[in-house]
Amino acid sequence: MSRRVVVTEERACRVCHMHIGTKMSAVFPNGVLVCYRCLRKGDPHVCPLTGVDFREALGPGASQAVTSPPGPAEPGGGEPPG
Ligand SMILES: [Zn+2]
Repeated sequence: MSRRVVVTEERACRVCHMHIGTKMSAVFPNGVLVCYRCLRKGDPHVCPLTGVDFREALGPGASQAVTSPPGPAEPGGGEPPG
């Protein structure tokens, strides 16, 4: 009898270790999986396990699309070498 219980930590809340089946859950950017209940307990932007605030980590302008502003159009279109 060599049965052993394998706990699938990948689908278990990292805070309360509750098994997360089809329940609502959330995964933080650092890969910490938490159940919906634990997520509601604290700030959804702060990892309850490490205490990292991803809202501050990403920065205030993280949500903005990083696009370079269009530069001034060259009137000549480039001079030929020589
Ligand atoms: Zn939980």
